[in-house]
Amino acid sequence: MQVATGISILNGIGIGKIRIYKTPEYKINESLVEDAIPELTRFENARLKVQAQQQVLYEKAVVEAGEDSAAIFQFHADMLDDDDLLDAVKTIIVDQKHTADYAAKHGFDNVATMFSEMDDPYFQARSADVIDVGNAVVEALLGIDTSSLQGTEPSILVAEDLAPSETVKLDKSLMLGMITREGSSNSHTAILARSMNLPALIQCKDIADDWDGKMAILDGYNSCVYIDPTPDLLESLTAKRNEDLKKEALLQELKGKTNTTIDGKTIHVYANIGGPADIGSVQQNDAEGVGLFRSEFVYLNSKEDPSEEQQFQAYKRVLETLAPKLIIIRTCDIGADKTIDYMNLDKEENPALGFRAVRICLTRKDFFKRQLRALLRASAYGNLGIMFPMIISKWEVRECKEILAECRRELENEGVKVSDNIQIGIMVETPAAVLCADELAEEVDFFSLGTNDLTQYTCAIDRQNAKLERFADTHHPAVLKAIQMTIDAGHRHNTWVGICGELGADLSLTETFLRMGVDELSVNAKSVLPLRKQIRSIDLSK
Ligand code: PEP
Ligand code: MG
Repeated sequence: MQVATGISILNGIGIGKIRIYKTPEYKINESLVEDAIPELTRFENARLKVQAQQQVLYEKAVVEAGEDSAAIFQFHADMLDDDDLLDAVKTIIVDQKHTADYAAKHGFDNVATMFSEMDDPYFQARSADVIDVGNAVVEALLGIDTSSLQGTEPSILVAEDLAPSETVKLDKSLMLGMITREGSSNSHTAILARSMNLPALIQCKDIADDWDGKMAILDGYNSCVYIDPTPDLLESLTAKRNEDLKKEALLQELKGKTNTTIDGKTIHVYANIGGPADIGSVQQNDAEGVGLFRSEFVYLNSKEDPSEEQQFQAYKRVLETLAPKLIIIRTCDIGADKTIDYMNLDKEENPALGFRAVRICLTRKDFFKRQLRALLRASAYGNLGIMFPMIISKWEVRECKEILAECRRELENEGVKVSDNIQIGIMVETPAAVLCADELAEEVDFFSLGTNDLTQYTCAIDRQNAKLERFADTHHPAVLKAIQMTIDAGHRHNTWVGICGELGADLSLTETFLRMGVDELSVNAKSVLPLRKQIRSIDLSK
């Protein structure tokens, strides 16, 4: 077995035979011509032919990869109306008396080189588009047909590089994956592969002609390809691929559908995330929003206290990419099991009952304000909810809101845009919060039940202690009663109530939660689709 690595552009697995995709070598006519006019006419005909082809590719790509990804072909067609680009070719014909194919090859290449030498990555990536269109024009001039290169058997395609137009021309039903030696993860080929949901590896430097016809596994999760895989590996990755296929089928079944029970009750299903790296998982699992962004991971992933700017960038990326979905960002919930050196927190006898979460934030006001300012600045880029963790008293919520208002005033005085539409909520994860839920509900737009801590504090069961497994009943009646009490109290005050602890993903409780009147369930991204399916199978009228 041989293993070759590259950069994966989609988490997926492709299993099948390799097919080497090689564009036929062609020869450009280098001899000079006497009369430039017929060459200009040849070039013009080829230009119009390719422009029409790009239109056809655009329509195919809209169906296979969506409007956004298809836009590149519109761009290609428009490029063929660009006077500067066309002049780069025509001058070679007219001034140097070269053939149309020579002029097209060199004219487009010159412009592509100019782009590739620019500092801006956007323009660098456009270089590939110019080459793609240039190749199409040269192929049209030389009458080259690439339609048979893919073959007729399903395969993993291996190529030096694949231009967007080559990628979209391929028959998707025969594609098990694609691997290229070149390419960048921002290229349109990569974008197309992603939107076509095709496992793909780029910059795989070890590709070789003798892979042709060999059995292979493209493992997008681990950014590698196994040539002639062992039977064990084949078995385990086939199982993983089948799991992905099931999920994909579920996604297709549920995409765009509301989370409505048979008798018509609709609730929101959101995903829990730890930072911008999880944006893809929200999209891939078609979550309606983010019910819990554990912002402490932004702190845990940083060697030093992250600046306001660093935090702003992280929050903005999530809000902007996922807009207009609601993104609930929980303020820093550090302490207990989540410790950070640069915070210099004292060692405590009972850290779970100690100086943690909002208790730290309300004590270290500058630290808290840095986060709140970053959140408020990011709010202008999407639909933000802010949630305070470990609340036990009304005064804590009030103080959090006062500091938030202070940050808003500061930013507005600085001329910084802040959204007027930010929902404010608290985590309900202590018995104190449950018992005071009526009072707390007056202060906020939403409650989110943190059932992990709520179970720990209600049942006095340390969630970190494996020895207590036998005593830790996740369905403990006290916890379920606390959930019901919180939902009822919230609803008495027009405060919506969700669950963002692990219990929200427990399918054996979905019906119970719906009967209790929960408005939202926020679960790990992997559980989103199974939960949505479960909700749609429940009939509360029975
Ligand atoms: C919870 O306590 O249920 C919760 C969602 O927060 P965390 O697990 O991050 O403490
Ligand atoms: Mg918690």
